[in-house]
Parts: sequence; C-alpha cells; structure tokens
Amino acid sequence: MDKKLIFQKGSAGRKNNYIRKPFFYLQEPHQIIPKEFLREELSLPSLGELEVVRHYTNLARLNFSLDTNFYPLGSCTMKYNPKVNEELANLEGFTQLHPYQKEEDIQGALGLIYNLEKILCQITGMSKFTFQASSGAQGELIGMAIIRKYHDIKGNRRRKVIVPDSSHGTNPATASLCGYEVVVVDSNKEGLVDIDKLYKLADKDVAAIMLTNPNTLGLFEENILEISDIIHKQGGFLYYDGANFNPLLGITNPALMGFDVIHLNFHKTFSTPHGCGGPGAGAVGVVPALADFLPVPVVEKKRNKFYFNYKIKLTIGRVRSFYGNFAVLIKAYVYLLMLGKEGLLRVAQNSVINANYIKEKLKDCYKVAYNKRCMHEIVFSCDKQKEKGVTALDIAKRLLDYQIHPPTMYFPLTVKEALMVEPTETENKETLDYFVKTMMKIDKDINQDPIRIKNSPHTTPVRRVDEVSAARSPNLRYDYTNET
Ligand SMILES: *Cc1c(COP(=O)(O)O)cnc(C)c1O
Repeated sequence: MDKKLIFQKGSAGRKNNYIRKPFFYLQEPHQIIPKEFLREELSLPSLGELEVVRHYTNLARLNFSLDTNFYPLGSCTMKYNPKVNEELANLEGFTQLHPYQKEEDIQGALGLIYNLEKILCQITGMSKFTFQASSGAQGELIGMAIIRKYHDIKGNRRRKVIVPDSSHGTNPATASLCGYEVVVVDSNKEGLVDIDKLYKLADKDVAAIMLTNPNTLGLFEENILEISDIIHKQGGFLYYDGANFNPLLGITNPALMGFDVIHLNFHKTFSTPHGCGGPGAGAVGVVPALADFLPVPVVEKKRNKFYFNYKIKLTIGRVRSFYGNFAVLIKAYVYLLMLGKEGLLRVAQNSVINANYIKEKLKDCYKVAYNKRCMHEIVFSCDKQKEKGVTALDIAKRLLDYQIHPPTMYFPLTVKEALMVEPTETENKETLDYFVKTMMKIDKDINQDPIRIKNSPHTTPVRRVDEVSAARSPNLRYDYTNET
C-alpha cells in the first residue's frame, strides 16, 4: 500500500474540473459559487476525485474500529452504536439550528432536552439534570463544584474527599481541582471498599466520597448502603461516577444506593461513538437538596413552552458555551426511546452475562483478580504469564494480530499485570468464543514461542511504538514507507 501524504501525490492540472466554465452556462463559475469558495490561491495538491477517495479510504482502513472488529476495552464501553442515532442527529432541523436563535424557534430542541432529562430522572432516581458537560471528567467537575459550594454556603469548612484505591484517575483529579485533599481508602481482599478503614477515615472534615459502582474491578459494592450511612452521618455527600452505567440499567439506581450527585457518560453508556477525544456528553444529576446549585441555564417548561431558566438561586455558574454537545444528547434520546424500559434492562443483563461468560471460560488460563461474580467487566491478572516472561502488554499487543483490540492494561492500579476486559452487551456468542479461543492460544504459545509474542504485533500497519517518545515528541509526519 502506498503511504504517501496527499501533498506528495497528484500532478499539476489533474484536479477535478467540475466547476469550470461550461459552455452551456451563461454565468462565470464565480457567479454560481462565491469566489472565496473557489480557493484558487491555495496551493492544494492536484488530484482526481478517484485518487482522493482511495487515499482517504485506505487511510481509514489503517485504523482499528468498532465497526470492523471486537473492541473489549474495559472501563470504556466500546459498544455498538446504532446508526439510526446518527441519521436522526443529522436531520436538518437539528443541524441547522443556531444557539442564538429565539426560544420560540427552538421549541423542538428544548423539548428534546426536557424529555431526555425526564427519562434520566426515571432511570437514575435523581431529580434534576444538566447536560452542559462535554465529558465525564467535566461532569465530575460540575458535581464536585456543587458539593463544594453547598458546604461553603453552609459554612462547613471541609477539606477532604475520599476515593477508593481502585478509583478512576479523574476522581482524585477532580477532587483536587476543587481544592480538596484526596484521601484514599483501601480495598479489602474482595476488591470492595474496606468498611473498617472507611469508618476510621470518615469524619466531619469529609466533604464527599467519590465512588463508581460497579467499581473499576467490575465488582458491585455490596456494602453501598452502609457506606452511604457512614458518610451521610458525618454530613458528607456521595458522588456517583456513572461513566459506565450499562450493568445497572433498569435493575437499580444511584438514588436507591444513597448517592446525591451523579454523572453519566453518554459516550459510553448511551451510545455515542467515542475515542480520539469526543465529542461526548457528561450528564450530571442531583437530588432535590442540590438542585439549586446546578449550572445555568437549565431547560424548563411553563404553560407548554420550553425555556432556558437562568434564575437558579445558588448556581455554580455557566460551565461551557451554549448548551453542551447537543448532537450527543439527540443520540442518547434516540437510543433511550428505541430501547425503552425492557430494552434497557436487557442491555444490563447482556453486558453482565457476556463478561461472566468470558470470565468462566478463561479463569483456568488467566488468573481472575477477584474471583467472584462480576458485573459488565472482568479484570484478569497476567502474573502467571509474566513468570514465563510475557507481560500483560505483550498479550494485549498479540491480540492485534488476531484482529482484536487490546483490552485496558495495567488498570486498575491495584491489580498487577492487569487486563481489564469489557465485552459489552452488543457482542454475540461467536465473537466472545473467538476472543476466548484466541486468549487460550496466546497462553499456550507462551511455552512454544514467547519471542514471537514479545515482538507482536506483526500484522498491523504500525508495529510496537516507543510510547514514551510518542507522547513526549510526537512526529506526526512520520513516514513509515521503508518499514518492513
Ligand atoms: C471514562 C471514565 C471517566 C471519564 O470520562 P471522560 O469522558 O473520559 O472524561 C470517569 N470515570 C470512569 C469510571 C470512566 O470509565
């Protein structure tokens, strides 16, 4: 395959000439198309349309994507996103909206946001939502800023936020950005929050605990009600990181578990494709006691008219321009309407069954970090394989030769040689079986040809990259024409 940049291709005069002076037109081209769009002055490469199509189609094929292959990336929910979401988000009535239009003219869009909020309130038990955040991390920032402001107004000078040692990195980062000292509570032997240790840490200096349930080990925090009691008795809040909410949909909700503020990642749980930085949406929901702190504006309804309400008493202010990534909200709304209550329950059931299927099939081959029933993801530890000189990284890279995307590696930090596998609810049994078979084969091959695994991948357009240099001094024009 040819690996030239598009600027190195083409030859003078070979451009598309659709926009020329056709003899049967009475007008000059710039009378049909404004002159500034013709861009004659730019030194663009001269290529025919077919060359351009092939160039970009072939570039796209170098990429690894969910639409082509299995993508079991734990804590990321790389599930299939129905194409109908895209179709509907692309309706002209949506794409041609301008955020400065009058409220009377955008009643449909406001109504969509309003109805989306009502559905999420049913699913989560929260009483009010904001959709301004563009990501899970930004949602966390909103949620923790609300908690901070609540305490500040009450005159509670609390300094600490508790997070478990298995928590997602954005949790301590958020707490820290909100001016809190991060206190880590250890997990117990079962991979759950150690309740005795939590008792000792919880005092009147704790503003909140940030938890994700199921936690990042894919385990349900069975003592969640006790945790809620411990923190609430001290006047602290429970923050719910609901980035990956698929395993609980329609089964239970964060309000029942005692949470006060939550965020959901639409780009994980509610079917917006993600990767490469977005766009995403982090929906933040709160219990009634915190509704007066939400960012402005919120969408409300009065006498059958939807409107932006800027008069929120104790608001933390505006968090971003306009109103979030609206197209992502449309996709979530379509997804929720298409599935309905029963469909959502099946999402949860299938995501849990799929992960447990993989766990049961592989548990004799790879050590399961915490061998009990998991939720939507399963964390393996490759330390048996490491003893033979092959690491979790090597195994993850080798999977690429079998057209499987590597699982999440070396996370959570509490598990040595971790491989975190999230099959998601949208994969069929054949795909799961192929993954299981491949993982078994790699384990067997460690005894025969470990070097081949350590040098993998062998079949991808780019082999193993030097990850440190790639991050520190990225060479985005790297030409790998001469690589074998
Ligand atoms: C992905 C994730 C986040 C962060 O979400 P972003 O949209 O990437 O900012 C936070 N917590 C957990 C558990 C996650 O999986």
